Amino acid sequence: MKQPKYRRILLKTSGEVLSGNHQSGIDPTVVESLAEEIAAVSSLGIQIVIVVGGGNIFRGEALSERGVDRVTGDNMGMIATVINCLALQDRLENLGRQTRVLSAIHMEQVCEPYIRRRALRHLEKGRIVLSAAGTGLPYFTTDTAASQRAIELGADVLLKGTKVDGVYSADPLKVPDAVRYDRMSFRQVLESGLRVMDSTAVALCMENQLPIVVFKLTEPGELRRVVTGDAVCTYVGDVSNVTSDES
Ligand code: UDP
Repeated sequence: MKQPKYRRILLKTSGEVLSGNHQSGIDPTVVESLAEEIAAVSSLGIQIVIVVGGGNIFRGEALSERGVDRVTGDNMGMIATVINCLALQDRLENLGRQTRVLSAIHMEQVCEPYIRRRALRHLEKGRIVLSAAGTGLPYFTTDTAASQRAIELGADVLLKGTKVDGVYSADPLKVPDAVRYDRMSFRQVLESGLRVMDSTAVALCMENQLPIVVFKLTEPGELRRVVTGDAVCTYVGDVSNVTSDES
């Protein structure tokens, strides 16, 4: 069997993925299969950090358009990510995996506070770390939290799991002849304005040379194929330095 390419990964998924075909909320069957995909990768001995968004429950920006104070809305969004992490933790533990939810907003009765050294220790012990509540700061996104956590925890790659198999020249669900990019540089992503991750997240990765792999998380087995270099995906990073099996 092919050896994994990575020792430590950060997996970012939006809250939207957890709602499956529903408009919002959590679809338990989706969480169950996501947990199975993650458990399979953890069985390969890869250390895993997970950042889940909260857009399936609340987004600060959308709330503020409806009159909610922006900071309050962002706090609601961050707390929504904790709910998603708890749902995923529950299913991972049901599969026998050891996990810890570490939250950037302190909630001692529910989960541990996010402390970098503690997160590293959990990873070294083989526990899956779910990093909750984003950065803990309003006006940021969980994409930025994912970049920041991946960098400070020394992940080899940021895996951005979405509902499509990479970055396209246009929305493939709306434009049938949109083309998928195999590889892109950070600068190309920033200059093209294509929605890979928000620009703060991409800029952080660029400054710290942390590659991003965008792939279809909802495709069964694809997360595992990403870590062995066999997935259909888009690699964002130093394209001058990409080996032929990077995409
Ligand atoms: N959020 C925040 N600071 C952070 C991360 C998230 O204020 O560091 C809030 C923000 O309101 C955001 C919401 O939490 O809209 C949910 O996160 P996000 O939109 O990134 O979730 P996703 O789109 O990935 O589901």
